[in-house]
Amino acid sequence: MENKIYDVVIIGAGPAGLTSALYAGRSNLSVLVIEKPTVGSLLMAHKIENYPGIQGSPTGKDIYNLMKEQTLKFNVEFVDATFLGFDLLGENKIVKTDKDNFTAKTIIIASGWAKNGAKKLPGEEQYLGKGVSYCATCDGAFTRNMSVSLFGKGKEIAEEALFLTKYSKEIHMFLTEDSDESEDKSLMETLKANEKIKMYYSSKLLEIKGEEFVEEVIAEVAGEKINCKTQFAFLYLGTKSLKELYGEIAPLDESGYLITDEAMHTSIEGIFAAGDVRSKMIRQVTTATSDGTIAALEAIKFVLKKQNLRAQYS
Ligand SMILES: Cc1cc2nc3c(=O)[nH]c(=O)nc-3n(C[C@H](O)[C@H](O)[C@H](O)COP(=O)(O)OP(=O)(O)OC[C@H]3O[C@@H](n4cnc5c(N)ncnc54)[C@H](O)[C@@H]3O)c2cc1C
Repeated sequence: MENKIYDVVIIGAGPAGLTSALYAGRSNLSVLVIEKPTVGSLLMAHKIENYPGIQGSPTGKDIYNLMKEQTLKFNVEFVDATFLGFDLLGENKIVKTDKDNFTAKTIIIASGWAKNGAKKLPGEEQYLGKGVSYCATCDGAFTRNMSVSLFGKGKEIAEEALFLTKYSKEIHMFLTEDSDESEDKSLMETLKANEKIKMYYSSKLLEIKGEEFVEEVIAEVAGEKINCKTQFAFLYLGTKSLKELYGEIAPLDESGYLITDEAMHTSIEGIFAAGDVRSKMIRQVTTATSDGTIAALEAIKFVLKKQNLRAQYS
């Protein structure tokens, strides 16, 4: 595998990466997918009821297995490895991992949202799918008449909190220290006026506790430790790892996500980004597969153009 030059190397085997792999593999390109085992939003999703065509309540893992199986029919290769960085000096691009370096004509970054690589808080992993969630739009419907908490920057959690007002009985919004309330003033005012909502400023989540499911969160609020009874904790806290991984090669938005254009191009020629990793409004399986389709079609075009140019001048 070491000396092979892949047409496309894809970082990530979530819905975005697997859709890209399907399209690129089906176009007879050589494709390698790098995946970090057991990591990724799709694998964390305990129940998905809104992916069209798949009925019942499959887990994210079920959908992952179906998508992966489909790519294998088109000779897509997979490697379990952790992406570490790029070497972009030569004609081809080098993707560095903890296992090996891989050479590619073009790269699709589909490694999901920032929290994938970030450090977990006490109780976070234990209660994932049992009250801990990273997506109110996905899990809001399960919070009917419950008390819920959200942790993150004001702007990031404001719309999520608004969505939860349709379902939850009580909403505790824990705003982190770096929140800037002026960013979405009118929405913040609407939320403050809602009697279901209580806001806590300069907050830091310390621990999530419970028995089988989440029962309380412990947080530091303006220097004081508080215990808050809650049945759901929605976390919007991690953005650091994307800066570390991609910050040097392409511009990131203020929350640390990769900026692309509508055709999934990053600012580096031949490097595309798809799915939750990119700066966008809605992070869902459907939007990730859509991004993956577009990124793959652009990557295929990029490879074919290069091949034709080489043929023309050789
Ligand atoms: C608990 C939960 C429930 C959800 N429920 C729903 C739902 O009901 N409906 C819905 O539509 N959406 C839901 N979502 C959102 C949905 O899962 C995501 O929007 C979607 O999975 C994003 O796809 P992706 O391919 O961009 O990223 P991901 O699914 O996060 O996949 C990222 C991939 O990148 C790999 N990766 C990450 N870092 C590295 C690295 N350094 N090196 C190598 N590989 C790496 C991972 O191994 C993984 O394969 C939910 C999310 C969560 C967390």
